[in-house]
Amino acid sequence: MSIADNIKSLKKETGEINVALLAVSKTKPAADLQQAYDAGQRLFGENTVQELVEKQEQLPKDIEWHLIGHLQTNKVKYIAPFISMIQSVDSIKLLQEINKHAAKNNRVIDCLLQIYIADEETKFGLGFDEAIELLRSEEYAALKNVRIRGLMGIATNTDAEKQIKEEYYELKTFFDGIKVSFFRKQESFDTLSMGMSADYKVAIEQGSNMVRLGSTIFGGRVVKHWKNN
Ligand SMILES: *Cc1c(COP(=O)(O)O)cnc(C)c1O
Repeated sequence: MSIADNIKSLKKETGEINVALLAVSKTKPAADLQQAYDAGQRLFGENTVQELVEKQEQLPKDIEWHLIGHLQTNKVKYIAPFISMIQSVDSIKLLQEINKHAAKNNRVIDCLLQIYIADEETKFGLGFDEAIELLRSEEYAALKNVRIRGLMGIATNTDAEKQIKEEYYELKTFFDGIKVSFFRKQESFDTLSMGMSADYKVAIEQGSNMVRLGSTIFGGRVVKHWKNN
């Protein structure tokens, strides 16, 4: 199937159940993104600042760009003028830096806290306790130019469906608890980003309302072993 066909069928499948579809276009050329755009796709996700900035310059300006990969504080300034959502917030330091650059651009930047749920050695993401600590902190309370819209999580890369299901179930339960405890009056806390090509159906069953799909839309990627992401 073509990229356009993939977009059309996935938009239908997710749209019917009010799940947002983020097209993860990392490593793919701008021409591929343009095909998805022409088929109606407007939400795109990249995992590096460099690719994000390059593609943002080349492609239509009504695209909503999401960053889904680890963000270094010294790179926030490059995306602050235009980014729609940063899904990979994993420290108060980073959130403070985003706030600073959002203020410089007279913006409020939407963010998700990335929560560590996988049973794998990965460097990024807040533990449940750390996320609570961040939300309780005075440092967070002082930030006026960031808005936390919800949570993002990446499940273990495994064929064991039961494990993936449990990880997403835990994240959904945590999301509900956080909403009640910290965002009871904020309707804008509404996004639970979980699910990739291999596991998005399980994620949706467990309560995801945003899936991040790359290979299902654009085909497989060449794995670059010399690069982290
Ligand atoms: C690459 C990536 C995806 C999409 O992966 P696919 O398996 O190609 O769907 C989703 N989320 C994150 C954080 C990613 O880095």
